[in-house]
Amino acid sequence: MPQSFSSPRLLLNRLRQVMASHDGGQERLSSIVKLIAATMIADVCSIYLRTKEDQLELVATEGLRSEAVALTRLSMDEGLVGLISQTAEPLAIEDAPRHPNFAYRPETGEDPYHAFLGVPILRGGRVIGVLTVQNRTERSYDEDEIETLQTIAMVIAEVIASETGPGGEYLNARSKQFEHSETLKGRSISPGLGIGQACYHDPVVPTAKFFALDTEAELRRLAEALHKLRASIDRMMDLGSHDLGEDPLDIMEAYRMLANDPGWASRLAEGIKNGLSAEASVDRARREHRAKLESARDPYLKARLNDLEDIDNRLLRILGGHDGADHVAIDEGSVLVARRLGPAELLEYSNAGLSALVLEEPAAASHAAIVARALGIPTIGGVTSVTTLLEAGDTLIVDAELGQLHIRPDEDVIAAYRARQELLSERQKVYRQLRDEKAMTRDGVEIRLMLNAGLKLDVEHLTETGAEGIGLFRTEFQFLISKQLPSLKEQKDFYAYVMDAAHGRPVYFRTLDVGADKIMASFAHPVEENPALGWRAIRFALDREGLFRRQLRALIRAAAGRPLYVMFPMVTVASEFLAAKALFLKELSWARRHGHPVPLHYSVGAMLETPALAFELEALSGQADFICVGTNDLMQFFHAADRMVPSITERYEFIARGPMAFLSHIVQLCDKLNMAVSVCGEAAGKPLDALALICLGYRSLSMPAASIGPVKRMIRSIDLAVLSNKVYTLLGQSTGSFREDFLALCKQHNVLLEIS
Ligand code: PEP
Ligand code: MG
Repeated sequence: MPQSFSSPRLLLNRLRQVMASHDGGQERLSSIVKLIAATMIADVCSIYLRTKEDQLELVATEGLRSEAVALTRLSMDEGLVGLISQTAEPLAIEDAPRHPNFAYRPETGEDPYHAFLGVPILRGGRVIGVLTVQNRTERSYDEDEIETLQTIAMVIAEVIASETGPGGEYLNARSKQFEHSETLKGRSISPGLGIGQACYHDPVVPTAKFFALDTEAELRRLAEALHKLRASIDRMMDLGSHDLGEDPLDIMEAYRMLANDPGWASRLAEGIKNGLSAEASVDRARREHRAKLESARDPYLKARLNDLEDIDNRLLRILGGHDGADHVAIDEGSVLVARRLGPAELLEYSNAGLSALVLEEPAAASHAAIVARALGIPTIGGVTSVTTLLEAGDTLIVDAELGQLHIRPDEDVIAAYRARQELLSERQKVYRQLRDEKAMTRDGVEIRLMLNAGLKLDVEHLTETGAEGIGLFRTEFQFLISKQLPSLKEQKDFYAYVMDAAHGRPVYFRTLDVGADKIMASFAHPVEENPALGWRAIRFALDREGLFRRQLRALIRAAAGRPLYVMFPMVTVASEFLAAKALFLKELSWARRHGHPVPLHYSVGAMLETPALAFELEALSGQADFICVGTNDLMQFFHAADRMVPSITERYEFIARGPMAFLSHIVQLCDKLNMAVSVCGEAAGKPLDALALICLGYRSLSMPAASIGPVKRMIRSIDLAVLSNKVYTLLGQSTGSFREDFLALCKQHNVLLEIS
């Protein structure tokens, strides 16, 4: 092999000096390519950057013709450079012109060069450019050279993105706009407006912390952090095996193997030896994992890459002085920005005073979305690539009414939004004034409005909203926020607190509903192809009897002399309900036998969230005291449309003949069987959907706190007998859009759906 280049550390050191110079962006890029070519003994070194038009533009070169700079542009799938940007992988070739993807550009004068090495320039999992070196002679580049070029590419990515770094100005002018205002579209997930500074959920490594001053010390820091990481995973595994049996340990074992992978650890050490800090070296691995994740299709591979990214993030937190699962403290009033966020992760921010939340993932019906609504955090999702388009500290306006994100808005835009915020609070005042009024229609039908809750702070909303009780208490939230399974006492105390705070108003406790996207930190859930259809809710609880009985025992103890309402989630067949109820009764008689206080009386019901149960209601007659319809899951299964994928769920209307006929069947059958019935999915909290439900015959609705006012105002504006008749007439027709006719009906009858 020809002489390999001198020390990568030296190269990084020199790069640092270039970065510190006062040259303009273009000059700095030119210095960088010169430096790399000289140090790596390459005849050519070039940087291509991704433009706004999604092309790769040659922005600096040493060795190719300088006239080609800013002229040569390749599409994202053109040439070797395009191939690298597509695969996000390095590419080393001995004789480039013979490669099928080679694209010859005469203006570059590229003819004499044979050997080619290119690596992606990655930022936030996105390829923002390509860095290449070329040699006249055919030669192969070794692992160390590839590794070093990758390290340098990461440094270039950072300096390009920073306003002051080389290329920053260049790039600001041409592609990225880290200084300019921008408005991005997203989907509204939790309503409201929020203004604040961007703060990343995933740890960010500042450019200032990129370089290792003392390699030995950095290697020691890395080794210690890896040790802590592995120990924390071992602790999680111990917990899992102790409390929950063996099955899911395989998954955890795979996670542990990733954390113990010597290849990964030695690459991290290699990065440090090349001159990076421990953080920067982990960050480099994270970028590569993310880039692969973006292009991965296979669900198994995706799950593994997600795990790898999780592990990178954990390690970064540990290096930042935080325990493996904790988040970095953030400033009050920040806007949290994340690619994806589970409900448990969001709950960890419940006391952080977030002013808004922005997610790349879109799902409005996800449990993170439900938590965001419960916490009253204005949230938008589906903002593509947002994590690569802004910097921590940028001012953001999150308009979760219109589903827009304003990045670095002008002062006048901020002023306009402050005025809109005032207007929104005026609207809230109108709703608050209804607090002590009855939710009664003009023709005297009273509707029971209840609250959906799951957190301690939710209970305060009872008094604020005037709700009659809690129609759905999601007990799993307590499990999701704790790193260990809550003990019997912790559960009992929590339930007793909720009942105390409800001051005699009923609280319907839904037993543990985990699985799908509700993942407990203290338990390794198996990876499933279709988790929403998998091992979750009552299926999980009945298989983990010890865990389930502990919860039932806690509920019984907490009630002590008060009425107790319990419901089981996602019952599919009557026998599941009967089995769960039998366990409840066993716990009750155990409590009696042992002289523990028991509830004054109890009510046990089933959540109807699968279409199958609607056809087994007779079997529950005399057994279930009530049925609670969970429209979120029920509609997901009715339409076979994943609630986590809005582009799919939005194709299907809730106010349409199919769902209406089905929901009408349920309420009529429950009435006939003399079984109380209510609705607690998100539909119950949308005035238009709630109206449809009331017209069908439902008289008890449970919803997020913010919906009580709007739904009550709607109820007080209607004459139910007239509307209900007309809705049933519409339902009997077989043509025309049910939704449009229904909307026309609302208009004709002056139904107050929202304050304009
Ligand atoms: C539902 O599915 O409608 C429901 C209330 O349960 P969750 O949203 O918690 O799955
Ligand atoms: Mg559900």
